Amino acid sequence: MLKFNLLFSLLLIMANNMMAQSTHASAHALNQKEQHMVLVSAYTARGDMAALARALNDGLNAGLTISELKETLVQLYAYTGFPRSLNALHKLMEVLADRKKNGLTDLPGKEPTPLPASHTMLQTGTTNQTKLVGTPVTGAVYQFAPAIDRFLKEHLFGAIFSRDNLDWKTRELVTISALAAMDGAAPQLRSHFNVGIYNGLTANQLSALVNIIESNINKQRGLVAREVLQSVLDKKAYTANPWLTEAIFPTGQKIDNNNFVGTAWLQPLVQPDSNNKLQVGNVSFEPGARTKWHKHPAGQILLAIDGLGYYQEQGSAKRLLRKGDVVKCPADTPHWHGAAPDEKFIQVAINSIEAGVTVWLNEVTEEEYKSAPVNDE
Ligand code: MN
Repeated sequence: MLKFNLLFSLLLIMANNMMAQSTHASAHALNQKEQHMVLVSAYTARGDMAALARALNDGLNAGLTISELKETLVQLYAYTGFPRSLNALHKLMEVLADRKKNGLTDLPGKEPTPLPASHTMLQTGTTNQTKLVGTPVTGAVYQFAPAIDRFLKEHLFGAIFSRDNLDWKTRELVTISALAAMDGAAPQLRSHFNVGIYNGLTANQLSALVNIIESNINKQRGLVAREVLQSVLDKKAYTANPWLTEAIFPTGQKIDNNNFVGTAWLQPLVQPDSNNKLQVGNVSFEPGARTKWHKHPAGQILLAIDGLGYYQEQGSAKRLLRKGDVVKCPADTPHWHGAAPDEKFIQVAINSIEAGVTVWLNEVTEEEYKSAPVNDE
């Protein structure tokens, strides 16, 4: 028996070590400098200047050179726009000046080698782009707007990607980090995961990058980036999950009672207790979904946080609800709320449970649902 226990313990220790090693490998798939590069790029993309200052300081402490950081922020203008890039360059100037004042000496790094004058930027950029992606880049959008094709080639892949103070693998790391931190860039993120892999970034490194986005930058952006990365690794098409890409709170569970028409989801956020009698929940309505008519004994507060919703009190016209709208529904007043026919709607509902529970009434008729809203601009 003792022997068995010993063997079992030994196996357990071995299993634990193996698990520790695989987690270890994933966390350290990117070296210190690369990890700081991810943070610098992501904070630049989000315009979070206080966090960027910390990331720049940490990056310089880890041995990133002034040239590498400057080049990162210059390249990012192509992906995040001049305002974000210029703000970040100003922040780098400030950080460097502060560090100098405090007696810290930062490594200048190497300047890019001057380019030979024998080729036009369009030729150089076309060659670079083809080499970076592995195949000539074509697409309907470049025929529709030839200027964007020329600017991408001449400027991004010509002028910027020819500068050799950052290698292409690092340039892709920077681009992917910025795109992962931004809203609405999933198609570009997907392309750059592929280009990153083609230029030597491993699945482990990209997974480590996504972990950094999820734990340091924004949880939702990290979850989206993970789905996009998984679609690339599985060689499957990426279908955007609308709840994941825009929701603040989790979507929660599908509501399966008959007080709702269509599909709606509930994530409880706060449960009432003896000191605080408020119940708070996040309700996500799919397009066309709505509640039945109902009333709350102590009224209700609705905070519209995404999409386009409807709200109507008995005897009044229907109102449109947009992100940021607040409704204070009076006590015992019949009303309904839900999503517009073609758009989802997400609300936070705050109810006081002290006076009693919600009273459910009739279904909202099609005429009521489709009636003209009073505040349609
Ligand atoms: Mn209500």
